[in-house]
Amino acid sequence: MTVLPYADALAAYDPVLGLEVHVELNTTSKMFCGCSTAFGAEPNTQVCPVCLGLPGSLPAVNAKAVESAIRIGLALNCTIAEWCRFARKNYFYPDMPKNYQISQYDEPIAYDGWTEVVLDGEIYRIGIERAHMEEDTGKSLHVGGATGRIHGADYSLLDYNRSGVPLIEIVTKPVEGTGAKAPEVARAYVTMLRDLLRTLGVSDVRMEQGSLRCDANVSLRPVGRSTFGTRTETKNVNSLRSVERAVRYEITRQAAILASGGRVTQETRHWHEDSGITTPGRNKETAEDYRYFPEPDLVPIAPSREWVEELHATLPEPPTARLKRVRAEWGFSELEMRDVVSAGAVNAIEATVAAGATPQSARKWWLTEIARHANEEGVDLEAVGVTPQQVAEIQALVENGTINDKLARQVFEGVIAGEGSPAEVVTARKLAIVSDEGALAAAVNEAINANPDIVDKIKSGKVQATGALIGSVMKQMRGQADAARVREMILEKIG
Ligand SMILES: [Zn+2]
Repeated sequence: MTVLPYADALAAYDPVLGLEVHVELNTTSKMFCGCSTAFGAEPNTQVCPVCLGLPGSLPAVNAKAVESAIRIGLALNCTIAEWCRFARKNYFYPDMPKNYQISQYDEPIAYDGWTEVVLDGEIYRIGIERAHMEEDTGKSLHVGGATGRIHGADYSLLDYNRSGVPLIEIVTKPVEGTGAKAPEVARAYVTMLRDLLRTLGVSDVRMEQGSLRCDANVSLRPVGRSTFGTRTETKNVNSLRSVERAVRYEITRQAAILASGGRVTQETRHWHEDSGITTPGRNKETAEDYRYFPEPDLVPIAPSREWVEELHATLPEPPTARLKRVRAEWGFSELEMRDVVSAGAVNAIEATVAAGATPQSARKWWLTEIARHANEEGVDLEAVGVTPQQVAEIQALVENGTINDKLARQVFEGVIAGEGSPAEVVTARKLAIVSDEGALAAAVNEAINANPDIVDKIKSGKVQATGALIGSVMKQMRGQADAARVREMILEKIG
């Protein structure tokens, strides 16, 4: 696949984005039946006639899901419909046993809103087209193929546990004017949305488990042109990092086609995490293909204005106001805050501070040690496998002198490797700083006896030479000593 270098693509073309985010609500039961929504259960154990689409079964709307949908709509500054209906979206897919999905079509519960994202200190306003309710499909598992896709598989298994889990689809208006920042704006938007949905308490928003999924629409138009180009929709991009990479890749791919005089095909595309490219999926259906019609088994939804007002009062502060507030509370410089925001670490730091760490120590660990692991594994910070509580525990161990920063890194390694809590890792790996004065004194003597020339230097007044002896003691102690105490002992000994 040929691509144009990113700078060349941006010199000639102006990207326009459209982001569709599906979020699974964290209601205890499904959208139209009483089945559990818990993640990770044995296949096909959380099903009933309704979510299996058996003849004669009737759906009933989950009131909690409607409440969450309204709160999401309000948090995105949308108008909440006074009256709206569900619609049937007709298509066949093996993981959708009814052969239609109950969704909303021309009557979404929330529409015409906006939100803001902050990127490198600049605010981008993102229009929200709509937020509508629908149900999730089941899951297909293709067995025997190399990539987990149906191509090359020997057989496929179906798990309907997810079938009927409440989903909200949030669709932006076309996002224009971001220029070369388009991939980062896309990532910043999904990050902001994830944080907002978590603060609202309506979803687990775990991209790696699929409870937050993003489809990224990208089109290009020649710079200076106002009409939109043909777009592609890259499906189910499952990490924040991938959102940015997938948009960037599509820009360079489409630019190469346009620059050589070709036409972009309107289609869905698949993102490949490992190779960093997209490949064609199916040609994009138009709305007519789905034969939408109002769902006859469900009554319309007409949320009273009083209820909407009540829900409005439960909203958290808007994302940009929140960033301003936490920056002031944490005492971060503008630059520090930018790094935190672009790393998607605001929630993690907030939770770490709530667990008892100082803001600066929380920032340090999330942006260095944990970020390094995230980069190495190509995952988002929160998927690395360290919780904010554990970060706070590790920092507490540093502050009470049990370990130092260097040893803390080994504790992170252990926690990430699944060796237990920070305290357990310290014990199991024998990482605690040695406070046994006898052992320290022996190591100090050893260092002094082995380095008479350095001792002479120190005696002649070159106190900075102490560093070499401290280094020798630390080496003997495998880094598990308090360097300040070692220095004291060396100087005492030499006199
Ligand atoms: Zn069910």
